[in-house]
Amino acid sequence: MKSIYFLGECMVELRVLDGATMGQSYAGDVYNSAVYLKRCFTDIATSIVTAIGQDKLSDKMLSCFKNENINTQFVFRHNSKVPGLYLIDTDAQGERSFTYWRSDAAARKIVDFLDDDVITQLGAGDMLFFSGISLAVIEESAREQFWIRLEQLKAAGVKVVFDPNYRARLWQSEDQAKQQFERALRFSDVTLPGVEDLTVLYGIDSAQQVIDFCQSFGIAEIVVKNGPESVITFVQGQLTAHHITPVTNVVDTTSAGDAFNGVYLGARLSGRSISDAVQLAATAAGTVIQHPGAIAPRDEFKKVMLA
Ligand code: ADP
Repeated sequence: MKSIYFLGECMVELRVLDGATMGQSYAGDVYNSAVYLKRCFTDIATSIVTAIGQDKLSDKMLSCFKNENINTQFVFRHNSKVPGLYLIDTDAQGERSFTYWRSDAAARKIVDFLDDDVITQLGAGDMLFFSGISLAVIEESAREQFWIRLEQLKAAGVKVVFDPNYRARLWQSEDQAKQQFERALRFSDVTLPGVEDLTVLYGIDSAQQVIDFCQSFGIAEIVVKNGPESVITFVQGQLTAHHITPVTNVVDTTSAGDAFNGVYLGARLSGRSISDAVQLAATAAGTVIQHPGAIAPRDEFKKVMLA
């Protein structure tokens, strides 16, 4: 059985429904990707590597992972911290705003839990995914240790996959983010960047420039997402543009990239070709953006696999 780890943060999501009523769920880039991968590829062992608290919301978050058939063996429980939280509000014009409380989240402590035993266990897996957001939330004082642990996993044969998702407010400076992203890219066997994420940091504004940039790190498999535009891949010296069908009924683009990442990696782990994997991933992402919120209804994904 193939296996993949998603390392990072899952948060408590609060959504203002009307006046004083709020809906509560769970979301976060790595969690979203894990959910979509597992829904489409049930035979891939899919784990989240994160830290949560001992509180009731953490209990429910854990149940939520289990309900999605995600392996929780590497979900660690911090003694005093609790999960990060964010609130989505929508104004009269339909514009969404996001407010975050995550600066002291349990997930920031994940590296403390990656001891030698855990690394040995993780070393048996096939692939580890993390993102620019995963990197940003790791405490600054723990980052060196994170790189040591990643190197050990890579040496054990785990393929490293990085999506350089950039969230300016999570970093002290652009230089700090660039330095960490470049380190991640040097480790990566696969990268799944979006064009927009590299625009602010590097002034890159086309898929071709993203390919050139990523190639300079010697990455074997580069997959560039660009909203409704073609997905561009560069693998074994071959540059390919994969046409995708633009969605006209876009409801909410939250987690389009996450769905794409999860389904693409699931397809690749299942032995699908690059072009099959891109088409399945684009179909999944195109489905997600026709529904509100990060996690679309489960039944929609049966259609993705039949597409
Ligand atoms: P992110 O969510 O990281 O910003 P993108 O906006 O680049 O990512 O979208 C990720 C993927 O979602 C795209 O590669 C594409 O497959 C799909 N997608 C996004 N927007 C559209 C759209 N309007 N029509 C069809 N597919 C889309």
